[in-house]
Amino acid sequence: MEQSIENKLIKADKVFSEWRKVPFEQKQKLIAKAAEILKNNSAKFGKIITTEMNKPISQSIAEIEKCALMMNYYADAENVLQPEKIESQYNYSEVRYVPKGVILGVMPWNFPFWQVLRFATPAILAGNTVVLKHASICFGSGNAIEEILLEAGFPEGVFQNLEVGHKEVKEILEHDAIKGVSLTGSGKAGGEVASIAGLNIKKSLLELGGSDAFIVLDDADFDEAAKVGAKARLQNCGQTCVAAKRFILDSKIENEFLPKLVEEYKKYIPANPMNRDTKISGMARPDLADELENQFKKALENGAEIIIPLERISENEFNPGLIKVKEGNPILQEELFGPLGMVMIAESDEEALEMANNIPFGLSNSVWTKNNDRQLFFIENLESGTVNINRMTSSDPRFPFGGTKASGYGTELSLLALKEFVTAKTIVGN
Ligand code: NDP
Repeated sequence: MEQSIENKLIKADKVFSEWRKVPFEQKQKLIAKAAEILKNNSAKFGKIITTEMNKPISQSIAEIEKCALMMNYYADAENVLQPEKIESQYNYSEVRYVPKGVILGVMPWNFPFWQVLRFATPAILAGNTVVLKHASICFGSGNAIEEILLEAGFPEGVFQNLEVGHKEVKEILEHDAIKGVSLTGSGKAGGEVASIAGLNIKKSLLELGGSDAFIVLDDADFDEAAKVGAKARLQNCGQTCVAAKRFILDSKIENEFLPKLVEEYKKYIPANPMNRDTKISGMARPDLADELENQFKKALENGAEIIIPLERISENEFNPGLIKVKEGNPILQEELFGPLGMVMIAESDEEALEMANNIPFGLSNSVWTKNNDRQLFFIENLESGTVNINRMTSSDPRFPFGGTKASGYGTELSLLALKEFVTAKTIVGN
């Protein structure tokens, strides 16, 4: 490891011994200040995102504003880390929540500010310090976040951006200073990082991919479901872990609903990401576009039918595609991380549920029906970290966020995230 990187790890560890003692409320004031800086400069920071990974500028600005909202949530949050007394036969017994130390964040390019701050804000508020290994195309975002936190008044070393490639993660994670890791990204990266963490007995949190279902039943509001469905699949050029990757339709509505979805879908025409009215632009990297094109071919070779062809129009741009896929197609075991949606037809609610669950992932599903009993059936039986009824998935700082199965483990957002990188220390005395 380069000496300059090791120096940062040592610094983070040294600063931790002071930072952990700073009162919760004082940390919250700094978080509120950082939120204000983000909000007041959303266009400037949004431009960094768009420049680095091609997200349409209006969506980049919305990402910055959402970061500010999330940080304000934690700035006002109840201190759930106060010692908790427990009734017992002893003179005293309580639980204290002790921060672990320096936590490594390995973060992706799809939401370059949001993913980082979503992890770092509760980790830091709990008393940890953070070092970031950002995606290699997003070092500008990583540096900007470090500057924002310094400007807000966080002591130097509480948050540091390490400009390193993924090959260096192993050595960093093995370093004595590092006490845990949070990774958002692919299953491959997650598995490798978690195994290193495991071998070194360090806590890990994984937020990985998904292939979420968007289930539309015969009593749904079709116009709304079609409009929201197209957005849920195509915003951020389809590069979202919780995107609606599979539309599971009640067979009775195929002829009525599908044309509406196609009509909404066709409103997503690739354009310059810097234009305020652009809804979709290029993917983040050409190799990711190659991968999507290969997956499209694989799906067709295994019997998928084209509803709208996926058309490559430049090195990283597509006219979005939509394919009809049947159970058994191996593409269903993969995540399609780009502007290509899948449609599946179910003969009953039971079959729709089976299709929704019959994948390796379990992140967040969306169900469209006005009937309470049918809502309850899906709420109780879908295998995912989140179920949304008559709305698309969109994380909210107030609610826990995380997956099950191959989508990962651990909880982000909400008050629960404050307890991810702490040790519950039991004190019992006479
Ligand atoms: P990766 O998972 O490879 O990248 C995410 C982060 O992990 C980056 O910081 C990357 O660094 C790092 N990383 C990659 N490999 C390792 C490793 N072996 N050890 C440690 N760190 C590693 O995602 P890709 O950019 O390659 O995208 C591939 C696929 O991953 C997508 O098509 C999508 O399916 C999924 N993905 C899911 C995301 C989500 O939100 N759940 C986000 C991004 C991707 P570096 O940039 O240096 O390689």
